[in-house]
Amino acid sequence: MFRIFLYRLVVLWLLAGGTALGAPAQTLQLETSRIGSPLGRHLAYLEDPQGKLALADVIARHDSFRPSEQEVPNFSFTRSVYWFHLRLENHNAPQSRWLLEAQYPLLDKVRFYALRDGAVLSSSEAGRLLPFSQRPMRHRNLVYPLELPAGQALDLYWRVDTESSLQLPLVLWTPERLALKDRDEQFAFGLYYGVLAAMLLFNALVYLSMRDISYLHYVQYIGGFILIQMCLNGLAHEYLWLDRPRWVQAAMPFSLLVSWAGAANFARSFLNLPKHLPLMDRFTWWYARIASVLAFVSLFAPYTVMIKLTTVNGFVMSITMAVIGVICTMRGVAQARYFLLAWAIFLGGVAVYPLKTIGLLPTVFLTEYSMQIGSALEALLLSFALAHRMKVLEQQNRRIQAEATSQLEQRVQQRTRELDEALRNLSEANNELQKLNVLDGLTGVKNRKYFDEQLALQLKVAERSRLPLSLLLIDIDHFKAVNDRHGHLAGDACLRAVAGAIAESLFRPGDEVARYGGEEFAVLLPQTDAAGAGRLGERIRAAVEQLAAVHECTPVPLTASIGVAVVAEPGETGERLIAAADAALYEAKHHGRNQVRMAAALTPKAAS
Ligand code: GH3
Ligand code: MG
Ligand code: MG
Repeated sequence: MFRIFLYRLVVLWLLAGGTALGAPAQTLQLETSRIGSPLGRHLAYLEDPQGKLALADVIARHDSFRPSEQEVPNFSFTRSVYWFHLRLENHNAPQSRWLLEAQYPLLDKVRFYALRDGAVLSSSEAGRLLPFSQRPMRHRNLVYPLELPAGQALDLYWRVDTESSLQLPLVLWTPERLALKDRDEQFAFGLYYGVLAAMLLFNALVYLSMRDISYLHYVQYIGGFILIQMCLNGLAHEYLWLDRPRWVQAAMPFSLLVSWAGAANFARSFLNLPKHLPLMDRFTWWYARIASVLAFVSLFAPYTVMIKLTTVNGFVMSITMAVIGVICTMRGVAQARYFLLAWAIFLGGVAVYPLKTIGLLPTVFLTEYSMQIGSALEALLLSFALAHRMKVLEQQNRRIQAEATSQLEQRVQQRTRELDEALRNLSEANNELQKLNVLDGLTGVKNRKYFDEQLALQLKVAERSRLPLSLLLIDIDHFKAVNDRHGHLAGDACLRAVAGAIAESLFRPGDEVARYGGEEFAVLLPQTDAAGAGRLGERIRAAVEQLAAVHECTPVPLTASIGVAVVAEPGETGERLIAAADAALYEAKHHGRNQVRMAAALTPKAAS
């Protein structure tokens, strides 16, 4: 209050001294047509390099004010303090209550004075570095309510001292029109932050359930991004920090760096850079670490330094991300398309804004909110890409499983084949064994066991078919003497020779020769009658006789006696047939050996 009083005094003194308040800038007539458009061209400004001037000094140097030539006076980053002057006059507008909005929420400290006829009517000091509650009106931007009925004029002064870029985009409103604009704006902000917050929460939850680090990096990126946007819009000050202005300033570079570190890490894990682009992977790895350290440093370091650093950093990283996206897409990395598209949309959105600002693009909803639309679409696309990546991973997984299954099947088939072969070999070996089982070890013809089975079988066949069956019993003559004279080994050789001679004498497939006992053989002749059997017996006898066996240069004469028996009627038994043949053999031996004897017709069973 005291200060205001002082200013009034000074101003009165100045007026008394006859110094009229000249107006280097045009006086702005209040008209409804001015509502909503920037007033920059009606402003005048004065640079105060030391920042030591007070209102009275400024008014005293009124001639030094220069008219602003821009719609939005902009002095970029500067150490100087700037004073702005605007003279408003209401000729005949019925409206007496007006609002001036400074549409740049990043100004640190803005002192404002409203003077009528040289007297300070009101003053305020607000900005990013001052508590929110100090603002003349509760709004994310600095909004100045003015009472200016028809026929009156006001001189307005702003003293702007900021570490952010220094600009004062003033726009004139009536309370109704500002309320309408705010209404649309708040809806758009709600939509925008709603989308981003939903993406953030959803992916955070997905991370908790999947533990895939890509989701966490995405959350970090979007989280930082939300914070940046809230700072840029002045919403962070209004809704997050309120009366902790120091945080408002540090939050900008901090959240930018956190977000970029998240983006770099996201690119690494999402595109699997270690595999696809090892060099870029190293770069982004280092970048993410340095950015994290810088984010921490930014909490304490001077804002001007940090914000310049992060601006350059943002430029470099935007290009890096785009390059990574392009290379990965060209190399056919599955999910790179989405990544590239997302960045393209984002960068497109960012690029449209300055084009709109310099007037190359019209100011419509799409260009005004291009950055927001671009970034929301980017967040959506990246989130979708994450989901798609999950699908790709699942498909890969399924393919690996299918491959494993088919490999397993192949192996099972191979094992089955091997097993089949082993079984076949085994069964062949078994067959061999069975064959050996029916053969006589010494002579290689069938053995006695086989003969007995075959005799029983052929008897049944003969009975059913009513065809004859003959049996020859063959005994080598004086074989004992052969053994005695030439030894057992020679005897064995003779046995083999005789067996061979008998086997060679048999022509019909069903005829079988077996070794019946020591030097005795039995020949079974199915479907052969007595006459045929007699002829065969004679052939065998002759064959044995012809066997000019020689042992150690000594000829060994061999002869055999043969008894023949034929099944005469059904129901004949093996024993009786053998006994009959044996009897015939005995006859042959008895009658001088080396001859074939037919058994007398078998005695009918009933008679025996
Ligand atoms: P024959 O039948 O003419 O009355 O006189 P034999 O000398 O052949 O008399 P017998 O049938 O009683 O003699 C059988 C002889 O056959 C006895 C044995 O020395 C001989 N022998 C039996 N089995 C074998 C054998 O496996 N190898 C050899 N080397 N000799 C055998
Ligand atoms: Mg004998
Ligand atoms: Mg004998």
